[in-house]
Amino acid sequence: MTTLPVSTFQAPRGTYDLLPPDSATFLAVREAISAPLRNSGYGYIETPGFENVELFARGVGESTDIVSKEMYAFTTKGGDELALRPEGTASVLRATLEANLHKTGSLPVKLWYSGSYYRYERPQKGRYRHFSQVGAEAIGTEDPALDAELIILADQAYRSLGLRDFRILLNSLGDKECRPVYRDALQGFLRELDLDEETRRRIEINPLRVLDDKRADVQKQLVGAPLLRDFLCDACKAYHEEVRELIGAAGVVFEDDEKLVRGLDYYTRTTFEFVHDGLGAQSAVGGGGRYDGLSEMIGGPALPSVGWALGVDRTVLALEAEGITLELPASTSVFAVPLGEEARRILFGVVTELRKAGVATDFAYGGKGLKGAMKAANRSGARYALVAGERDLAEGVVQLKDMSSGEQAPVALGELVATLQAKLA
Ligand code: AMP
Repeated sequence: MTTLPVSTFQAPRGTYDLLPPDSATFLAVREAISAPLRNSGYGYIETPGFENVELFARGVGESTDIVSKEMYAFTTKGGDELALRPEGTASVLRATLEANLHKTGSLPVKLWYSGSYYRYERPQKGRYRHFSQVGAEAIGTEDPALDAELIILADQAYRSLGLRDFRILLNSLGDKECRPVYRDALQGFLRELDLDEETRRRIEINPLRVLDDKRADVQKQLVGAPLLRDFLCDACKAYHEEVRELIGAAGVVFEDDEKLVRGLDYYTRTTFEFVHDGLGAQSAVGGGGRYDGLSEMIGGPALPSVGWALGVDRTVLALEAEGITLELPASTSVFAVPLGEEARRILFGVVTELRKAGVATDFAYGGKGLKGAMKAANRSGARYALVAGERDLAEGVVQLKDMSSGEQAPVALGELVATLQAKLA
C-alpha cells in the first residue's frame, strides 16, 4: 500500500463534512424536527448503523432500487452478511420486536430517531451517499388519527423552521384486499405499453413503481392508466377519508396525489410525501406512510403501523432556498482575555467556575496579545469579554466589557459569577 500524505485525502464521493458554523443550523433542524415528536409521546430510539442485510431485503423489498442497487452490503470477517442501514423503519421495527416493546407497553409504541443513512446513489445536489434523517414510527395501532398525527407533526416541524414553500402529497395504496386487484389491472395496462426490458421486468415484480418513473416518454404512456383510487375497498376508502378530514380540520393543507407510490415496498393505505418547490430534482424533503404488513414480513405478529422520515440535509437546503437564516444564539456568552502569565492562571480558574455555573465561556488560548485575543473574543460572538491584567487582579477585580456597546467596568472577582448570571439571564 502506498502511503499518501494526509492532505490528499478527501471525503468519499457523495459525502460532505458538516463544519461550524453551518453545522449549528444542521443541529437546530434536527432539534426542530424532533421537538413536536418529543412533545407528543414519542420516545427516543437508537439502533445500530448496520443490520443483517436480509432485514432490508425482506423489509424494504428486493425489487426496490434501495435494496437492489443502492445498499452498502458487505460480509464481515466472521462471515456475517450485513448492510449499512439505508433507512430507519425496518431497524426500528426489528428492535421493537426484539425487545417485545409491543407486548410490554401499551400500543401504539411511539418512537423517534435521528441518525445517518447510507445509499449508493448517483450523487447530486440534495442526494448524497451518506445523509441524515429524523424519523418517527407509531407501531401496533390502526387508527386514522395516528396517521393524521404524524402528518400534522411534520407540518408543524417544517413551519416551526419558518418553511412555507413545501407541499404535502397524500395518497392511499390500499390494503391486502384491494391492492392485488388493482395490481392485476395495472399490470394488464402496462404490459401493452412500449417499454424497455428493465421496466418490463418491473411490471412483473412491482408494477406500482412504474407509475413513479420520472422519464417523460414513460409518463406520456401512463396517461389513462388505471388509478388505485378507483379500486380501493370500502374499508380503505373510509380510512383514507377519515385521515383527510382530520388533517384538514387541523388546518394542514395537502394535495391528493393518486400517482404517489414511493420507493419502498412496505407501504399500505396512507402514503404521503413532503416536497419543497425550491429544491429542483431532489424535491422530496420527507415522506412516510402506513406499513401494516411489515412486521409479518420480518417474522413478527400483525402490527399495523405508520411512520415518516424527514431528510435533514434537504431541509437545510430548503431553508437556504427560502432565504431563511435560523436565529441561533451564539454558543459562547463570555470570552476571557488574560494579560500576562499570572493573570492567565487566575482567569483560567475563573473560566472553569463560570462554566460550572452554567455560563458558556471560552478563553484566549495560546498566549495571544491583547489585539489578537480581542479579535478572537469578537469572532466567538460572546456578549461579554473579561479582561484582566496583573494590576486588576492585585485589586481583586476583572474588567467586564460589553462587546456590543464597548462599555467596560471593573467587577470584583467574588461577584463575577453572580453578576454575569444576572446579566445573561
Ligand atoms: P425515503 O426513505 O426514500 O422516503 O427518504 C425520506 C427522506 O430522506 C427523503 O424525503 C429525503 O429528504 C431524505 N433522503 C433520502 N435519500 C436521500 C439521499 N440520498 N440524500 C439526501 N437525502 C435523502
